Amino acid sequence: MAEVKTREFVSASDSAMKDASLRRALRQVGGGFNEARLEAIEEVSWETWEEWREEARRTKIHALENLDYYLELLHDRVTAAGGHVHFARDASQANSIVAEIARSRNVKIATKSKSMVSEELDLNQSLEANGVEVYETDLGEYIIQLAGETPSHLVAPALHKTKEQVSELFHQELGVPLTDDIEEMARVARRVLREKFLSADLGISGANFLVAETGTLVIITNEGNGRLCTSAPRIHIGITGMEKVIPSLQDLAVFLRLLPRSATGQRLTSYVSMVTGPRRNDDEDGPEEFHLVLVDNGRSRLLADPDLREALYCIRCGACLNICPVYGKIGGHAYGWVYPGPIGAIVSPALVGLKEAKDLPHASSLCGACREVCPIRINIPRMLLHLRHRLAESPLETENATTTGERQAAQAYSWLMSNPAALSAAAKVGRLVQKPFVSGGKVSKRVPLPLVSKWTGGRDLPALPRQTFREMWAQGLESVAELRE
Ligand code: SF4
Repeated sequence: MAEVKTREFVSASDSAMKDASLRRALRQVGGGFNEARLEAIEEVSWETWEEWREEARRTKIHALENLDYYLELLHDRVTAAGGHVHFARDASQANSIVAEIARSRNVKIATKSKSMVSEELDLNQSLEANGVEVYETDLGEYIIQLAGETPSHLVAPALHKTKEQVSELFHQELGVPLTDDIEEMARVARRVLREKFLSADLGISGANFLVAETGTLVIITNEGNGRLCTSAPRIHIGITGMEKVIPSLQDLAVFLRLLPRSATGQRLTSYVSMVTGPRRNDDEDGPEEFHLVLVDNGRSRLLADPDLREALYCIRCGACLNICPVYGKIGGHAYGWVYPGPIGAIVSPALVGLKEAKDLPHASSLCGACREVCPIRINIPRMLLHLRHRLAESPLETENATTTGERQAAQAYSWLMSNPAALSAAAKVGRLVQKPFVSGGKVSKRVPLPLVSKWTGGRDLPALPRQTFREMWAQGLESVAELRE
C-alpha cells in the first residue's frame, strides 16, 4: 500500500502554506475549475442539475445497498464476455494478482492510464520490484512519475507544478530544451509515450464506473491515453475499487453528465471508453486478455459503517477539493495519503485508520461548501463531525486521540456554558484580569496563553466585552447598540 504520512499533516500544511508557487497554482487552477463548473451548470439550469444529482445519489445508494448482487452480476457478465474477474481483499493481494498475471505472461513493459486505486496500492512500485517497467501515460501522472512525486489532486495530479517546473523537469529527465510553450511540452511527452504504447505487453487502467448488467468498464478521460492503454497491448488489466459498480447502462447516462461538469466544467470529456471483455474474433484490434481486479482494501468496513458509508458514493470529480478553503491553501500532498481534500479527510481515516489520520477530520472549517458542490450530495461535513466525535469519545489507549488536558478543558467549558451563574462570574473575573492587557478591543499578543497560543499566534484574540449579552438583556435592549461599538 502507498506510504501513509497522515501523521505529518500539521507540519506538512505549515510548509505548504509557506510555498508561494504552490499557493499561486492552487488559486489559478482551483478558481478556473469552479467558474467553469458554475457555467456548465447554468447552461443546463439549476433545476435540471438538482434532478441529476438526486438521480445519481439514488443510484449510488441502491447499488451499494445491493453490492453483493451487482458484484456477482458483474462477475458473470465479464466472464461471459471472455474476461477474468479477481477479487482482492487488500493492497498486497491486489498487487500479487497483477504481478502474477505479468510474470506468467512474461510482461516486461506496462503502460498505465490514470488510476487513484493503483496509487492507493502503490502498484507501480510492486510491478517494478517484479521486473516490469511501468509508464504512466496521463500527462499529469507522467510528470509526477518523472518527478518521483505523488498526485496532489483527484483529477489534476500535477496541479502543484508550474509550467517552468515541468519544463525544467523535462529538460533534466528527457534532455529536451527548456521551453515555456505548454503545447511543446505535451508534444514531447506524446512522442516519448507513443514508443512505450507500441512496445508495452500490458495496459493497466482504472475505471470510473463498472456497469453490472453488461460487464463493462467505463473510463472517461481528456487524453487518448486511456483508450491506447486498453486497446494496444496484448493484455489489459482494469483495477478499481469495488464501489464503482452501477446497475445498468441507463444509469451511466446521468454520471456521464455530472462527472465532467463537476470536475472541469466540460459537457463531456474528450473520450468515453467502454470496455467489455477482450477482443472478439471479428474485432480489428483490442487485447487478447482482459482482467478486472476488484479491490476491497477497507471498503467493506466502510460499507458496514452506517455513519460513513456515504463516502463510497464518491465519483472522484474533485469539486469538493476545488471549493475547499483548506485544500485551497495547502494543496493535496499535506494530507499525507492518496486521497486529499474534504473527501480524503474521511476516506483516508476510514482506510488507513483513525488513529493514523486523526488530524484530517479537523482539516475543515465545516463551511459546507463541499456538500453544496458535490454532484452526489455527499454530506461531508456531517461525516467530518462524526469522526471528530469518535476521536473525542474513543478510549485513549486505542485511538490516543485527545489528550487528558484537552478532555478536561472541554469538560470545564461544557460545565461553564451550562451554568449561567458561573459563566457570569467567570466573565466578571475575566474582564478584571484582562484590563491591563487590552488595547483597541484586543488582548495583547504579549500575554502568555498556553491553551490557545497556536490559535492566537496568527489571529487577534478579541477582549471580553464590557457586558455580556445576558447583562444587556437584563438592562433593556437599548444596550445592544453598545455591543456594536
Ligand atoms: S465527495 Fe463529491 S465533490 Fe468530492 S470528489 Fe467525491 S463526488 Fe466529487
